[in-house]
Parts: sequence; C-alpha cells; structure tokens
Amino acid sequence: MRITKSFAETRAVAHGVVGLVPTMGFLHEGHLSLIEAARKASDTVVMSLFVNPLQFDREDDLDRYPRDLERDVELATAAGADIVFNPELDEMYPDKQLTRVNVNELSDELEGPNRPGHFEGVATVVAKLLAGIQPARSFFGRKDAQQLAIVRRMAQDLSMPSEIIGVPIVRETEGLALSSRNVFLSNAERSAALSLSRGLMSAADLVAAGEREASVLAGAVRDEIGDALEIEYVTLASQAHVKPLQTLDQPAFLALAAWAGKTRLIDNVHFDGDDYVADRGTRLMERSVLYGTGEN
Ligand code: AMP
Repeated sequence: MRITKSFAETRAVAHGVVGLVPTMGFLHEGHLSLIEAARKASDTVVMSLFVNPLQFDREDDLDRYPRDLERDVELATAAGADIVFNPELDEMYPDKQLTRVNVNELSDELEGPNRPGHFEGVATVVAKLLAGIQPARSFFGRKDAQQLAIVRRMAQDLSMPSEIIGVPIVRETEGLALSSRNVFLSNAERSAALSLSRGLMSAADLVAAGEREASVLAGAVRDEIGDALEIEYVTLASQAHVKPLQTLDQPAFLALAAWAGKTRLIDNVHFDGDDYVADRGTRLMERSVLYGTGEN
C-alpha cells in the first residue's frame, strides 16, 4: 500500500490496467465494495480520498464532514487497494479553478435544484481525477444515482478514455443504505430512516408485479415513510437523462431525499433492462460494523 500525494507520483506507481475509486473518505462497506469491484477488474487499484470543497453547497456540511485518514488507509488496504491518493488542497486546486465542468440537463432535477453547484463540483473533481490518474476504469456507487449518470455522460461527451462502472448499493441488514452521514443519526432517527428502504422495496415489489405508473410507485414510498421523516422528493427518473418519468418505460431509478433531523439522506432503487429488474442492492449480514451504530 502506498499513500500518494501528487498525480505524477500516482501515475508513476500505478501499472497495467488502473481502476479508480473516488471517495471522500470515512470509509464504510459501501466504499469497500467499490474497491472489491475494482480489484477484480484492475491490476492497480487507486482509491482517491479527497473531501472536495467545490461540491459542498453548505459550509456547515463541509466542516462537519467526518474524517479519519489512518482508519481509511487500513480499511482500503484490507479491501485490496494498492494506492490511496490523498492530495492536499494545493495539488487539486493549485490556483483558482476557472475551468468547470457542467453536464447540462442531467443536473436539472432531483438533487440539482436542492444543491446548487454540487454537480459542477463533482463533475469538475472527477474530470481532474480522470485526467490526472488516467484510470482505464472508474467505479461509482449506484447510491448516488444522479452523480453516476452525470459522470457517465461527462466521460462520453468529453471522450474520456475511462470506462464508468456503477456498483450496487450496499445496505445494512435492515435495509438502510450505508452513508458516511449515518454516523450523525440518533437511534430514533435511524429507526425512522429504515422506512426509506422499506418504501423503495415495496415499490420494487409493485414493479415486479407489473406496475409502471410513477405516481403509484412514488405513492407507495411516501405511504411507507409517512411522517417519520421530512421528504424532499420521491421521483422516478430515467437513467440516461435523469428526467422525471410518468411511466416506467425505459431504464430508470426511483430516487428519494429526506431529512432525519439535521441529516439529509438519499436512497434509490434502479430498474434495469427491458424488463425493469430491480437492483435492490446488496445486504450486509448485520449492521455496519465500521460505524453507524447511532449512539450520538
Ligand atoms: P463518497 O465518499 O460519499 O463521495 O462516496 C464515494 C463513492 O462511494 C461514490 O461513488 C458513492 O456512490 C459510493 N457509495 C457511497 N455509499 C454507498 C453505498 N451504500 N453503496 C455503494 N456505493 C456507495
């Protein structure tokens, strides 16, 4: 395991087919599944660990973003990463970042309006990582469905020679999608948050039974959540364009955002292929052993 601080050093150490897993650290089993997927498809697995200020729309969110480099390096090594690229701010942004990447239209809905500038920050930092590290493959979680769609489109539009691979959502045994933000949930908030995945799974059951109306699918999710959490949106959107759909008539995902107290949570279920098979994610045998025990 090598910790690198610069792009040049990372390129010098990496060999063969390079697989990149971009993260902001504070790793959980969701990140580790990306490393495992990269391990199977690459000679060198690079995990980048950089809390990217450009993609935070709220300063308090950036300030309270959890960080633990030592633990992350240990976990990434155990999961099969060869290199942890952990640049200082100066390596990523040596000067004011005048060049920004905007993937038009795909940022208009869902997370876009609620988080101004967020996807510009994400697309810009991912473009820099792809240019600086030159991975043949890059791995992103389906947890951030819109981000995955945007990165895919950016790579296509800008002819970037990196294959973009989406990896299923990792959930705790009771269904909660792992997130670095889960550490902020109290026990009560965590219990309430279980309604999110329950709702999405009942929508997936409806799709399996032949339901195709977006309003019915979103309604099932809303019914399950009830007033346990404050819902921001529940939307069925196309995977290719992140456009809201009335009817499930192309590969899509049913996505939601909701607040558990001061913590904003997102989750989704993807419907793939011609028959809209639901990707319900993968489940751990138990709750996250890394953290997320809701003791605060
Ligand atoms: P983050 O560090 O939160 O920016 O996430 C880094 C990568 O991990 C992104 O591609 C996320 O989509 C992915 N990720 C986060 N949580 C999960 C999860 N529960 N399952 C699968 N991938 C995840």
